[in-house]
Amino acid sequence: MKIRAGWLSAALAVWVLSASGAQARAPEWAITIHGGAGVIERGNLDAQTEASLRASLAQALQAGAQGLANGKTSLEVVELVIRMLEDDPQFNAGRGAVFTADGRNELDASIMDGRTRAAGAVAGLTTVRHPISAALAVMQHSPHVMMTGTGAEAFAAQQGLEIVDPAFFFTERRWAGLVKELTAQGAPIPPRPAGAPAEQHTQLLDVERKFGTVGVVARDTHGDLAAGTSTGGTTGKRWGRVGDSPVIGAGTYAQNGVCAVSATGSGEFFIRAAVAKSICARIELKKEGPQRAADWIVQKDLVALGGDGGVIVMGAAGDGIWSFNTPGMYRARASAKSGPEIAIYQDER
Ligand code: ASP
Repeated sequence: MKIRAGWLSAALAVWVLSASGAQARAPEWAITIHGGAGVIERGNLDAQTEASLRASLAQALQAGAQGLANGKTSLEVVELVIRMLEDDPQFNAGRGAVFTADGRNELDASIMDGRTRAAGAVAGLTTVRHPISAALAVMQHSPHVMMTGTGAEAFAAQQGLEIVDPAFFFTERRWAGLVKELTAQGAPIPPRPAGAPAEQHTQLLDVERKFGTVGVVARDTHGDLAAGTSTGGTTGKRWGRVGDSPVIGAGTYAQNGVCAVSATGSGEFFIRAAVAKSICARIELKKEGPQRAADWIVQKDLVALGGDGGVIVMGAAGDGIWSFNTPGMYRARASAKSGPEIAIYQDER
């Protein structure tokens, strides 16, 4: 009996040791979020708006961090956090999206699983509450990678996703932004969308000169990477215009062992520079670190083309970084090793 007990405790000790060893070796989780880049400068955000944006970023980060710490996959967390940001009218995704020149909200989103490099994307949605979930459904439940417009909406409805009236996405602030933009262009102002609430007077600060797209990159405790991006696009875009956010390799990319990227900025340039895939290619082939690779693409290549905006990148080791060539970018990060960091302005780098 004594011998047995001795064997048992020895075995237990070995198990505990190897379990803790495994834990020490287990990859740690990390998450980085953006809420858009642009002309966001100290002085053009009032204290209340700034506090509210920081609080939203902190809340989204906290939900993502908790999910990862509790063992959710990076793919699950990317969807979960982006859904929160899509519901937050402060960001240009889902509710709070910017308007097209003809006064509609057309939503784009994409998601990619670094483990398998499976990807899903949707463009030009007007009735799906959570475009990121529609992108995930395309990836998981269809043989396709990208669906657009009414076909994508019918598919989302079939998948049981929440369908809303287009007026659900209306916000007075974004409408005022459209009116301002079209006035500056000397273009006609479309009628207020059907179902929009009665006009309220809203103070429009220069803050509108930002992008506001949302994106998440994450690494889970299995070491798997995922990335996702969701947007209303750019203010006053022509109807039917599609930016980089739903374009795999431009606005979003994820590949295990390499990196996960989500971008925000002037989408036409991000498509032309194949931003997300180019950053991953530099890391994979040139063996650059995530910061160096992202800086080269965002600060050199994009700038040479005339593109403005930024990216968040999750390295294979859980090193979440950002790079942007605009005065500000709403951003946040946390990992198993380092506490939450929320930042807006360039000098917070
Ligand atoms: N990249 C987005 C687009 O061009 C806009 C943004 O990031 O806010 O559609």
